Amino acid sequence: MSSSSISTFSANTGATVLAAALRQLQVEVIFGIVGIPVVEVAEACIAEGIRFIGCRNEQTASYAAGAYGYLTGKPGVCLVVSGPGVVHALSGLYNAQANCWPMILIGGSCESSQVGRGAFQELDQVAACRPYSKYSGRPLTIEAIPSVLDQAYRNSVSGRPGPTYVDFPADLIRGLASNNSSPLSSFKKPNSQAAHDSIQRAAEILLSAKRPLIIVGKGVGLAHAEDELAELVALTGAPFLPSPMAKGMISDLHPLCAGASRSQALQHADVVLVVGARLNWMFQFGRRFNVNAKLLVADIEPEEINRNRAAEVALVGDLKSTLKQLIQMLSLRKKEIINPTPFVNMLADGSKRNAERTRLQIQQSGSPMNHYMAISTIQDRLNASLPSGDYVLVSEGARTMDVTRVLVPSQLPRRRLDAGTLGAMGVGMGYAIAAQLAYPSKRVVAIFGDSAFGFSAMDVETAIRYKLPLIIIVINNGGIYHGLDDLSTLDPSKYPSFALSPNTNYELLSKIAPGSTSGYSVRSPAELNTALEKALRHEASLSIINVHIDHRPASQGLYWMDSSSTSGKL
Ligand code: ADP
Ligand code: MG
Repeated sequence: MSSSSISTFSANTGATVLAAALRQLQVEVIFGIVGIPVVEVAEACIAEGIRFIGCRNEQTASYAAGAYGYLTGKPGVCLVVSGPGVVHALSGLYNAQANCWPMILIGGSCESSQVGRGAFQELDQVAACRPYSKYSGRPLTIEAIPSVLDQAYRNSVSGRPGPTYVDFPADLIRGLASNNSSPLSSFKKPNSQAAHDSIQRAAEILLSAKRPLIIVGKGVGLAHAEDELAELVALTGAPFLPSPMAKGMISDLHPLCAGASRSQALQHADVVLVVGARLNWMFQFGRRFNVNAKLLVADIEPEEINRNRAAEVALVGDLKSTLKQLIQMLSLRKKEIINPTPFVNMLADGSKRNAERTRLQIQQSGSPMNHYMAISTIQDRLNASLPSGDYVLVSEGARTMDVTRVLVPSQLPRRRLDAGTLGAMGVGMGYAIAAQLAYPSKRVVAIFGDSAFGFSAMDVETAIRYKLPLIIIVINNGGIYHGLDDLSTLDPSKYPSFALSPNTNYELLSKIAPGSTSGYSVRSPAELNTALEKALRHEASLSIINVHIDHRPASQGLYWMDSSSTSGKL
């Protein structure tokens, strides 16, 4: 298809009806990859003033859409071709489902008349997407396009957010529209409140707590309830423990943050209030809490209550309202709140011990650097250049992500994206691109393990093309978990499964397309500091810093995820 035939259409087609509906829903950005039959859709969207971000792989596009949904609170939209395009994008659909992120996937599909006849890239996409979506549907007529899209939109943002799928057959995309497709009704998310007696009961239990703990999940970010959470923490003096992506809902630097004394907090708390987090593997299915701890669970999804551990009180409703209700109730009885200082001091001691352990890890670094030295050097530079923490951190990898979690605090909400509920690898470039579009004026710093980076590295070209000044840091230890210093003496048939090419020049990817970009290969803390300082100074250009570190296995295991999280052993 020639480009002129794409850009000169003017008739009111199904594609234009879809684009107009997306515009009405205030969609500003679409991620995707075009091809038959969706080029016209993308072009119609661009003509409507919607930005189209053409990625290099549908996985990246779909991961980007999910993250964009989380960061902006509006569903991220992803547009892909039929069959293989949709199957690749299932990764992002599944990821958005697992993380409770609002997203709409739109897939082109074969002509309706060819269904079941072996059409080009034919797949029952509505069925394929259904297990991973809150809604999966297809308009049967052009006139029905807005209402199906509306359905997908409402489903993705209402209640527990999640992904939805809309199938768009080629004949509908190209077909001429009559003028009677119904306009979209304006939609405001309903605000659900927790039951009054549950609030009362929860307040009662919180007032009896000597060692209260608030577990914070990314539901707080989705509900934009960070101010209410901060108020509750100030009112009760209760320590809080964020999940990895909930870091920053209240600053990690807050004295009541129990992130560095996680085990003690869970073991000793007598009342645990869970806000917008699930007691899944990330919180060891709730089994690490003190057996006698009373559990209060605040979530918008009733089915989440009592999963893995029975809750004393269920606070079902939107977190913003629930927390307000709780604050109101507790404020009336402020004098009855027990001062939790002894518990807070105990956790502070635990944090100090852990900080000492971390310091030793940094100290043990030699040349080449270990993970701790590399990432603490990055943290020192970020802290010096961006002390308010007003940047977005993307972190992906195994040990790289783990050490980043320990060493790089978050100070602000919705500024941190990592492998999330699925521990998915391959999300990094999509997340970084989405973050830069969601926060155009902020820096996005993406710290990758070298293997993790490989999953989405080609989308560096996407970032360069759209002039997104990402700072990409690759912590290069030559493999998955670790690598070997030299593969040249080994027979390739005997290579260990985890080893990648030692000394891969990831920084050269910064030159993959023309643009004002920089690549750095660094081997010492001083070189790393200088490179990052330059990357931060060059506000308009993308940088890749390849940090060559020790290839040997790390001396200490990962301590966020232990065997009980993954083996099913409780
Ligand atoms: P984390 O990984 O940070 O622990 P999860 O993704 O496991 O977070 O859990 C997020 C929880 O937040 C989900 O159970 C979801 O139902 C809940 N949630 C999402 N949006 C809201 C909201 N507006 N109000 C209350 N709970 C919400
Ligand atoms: Mg590695």
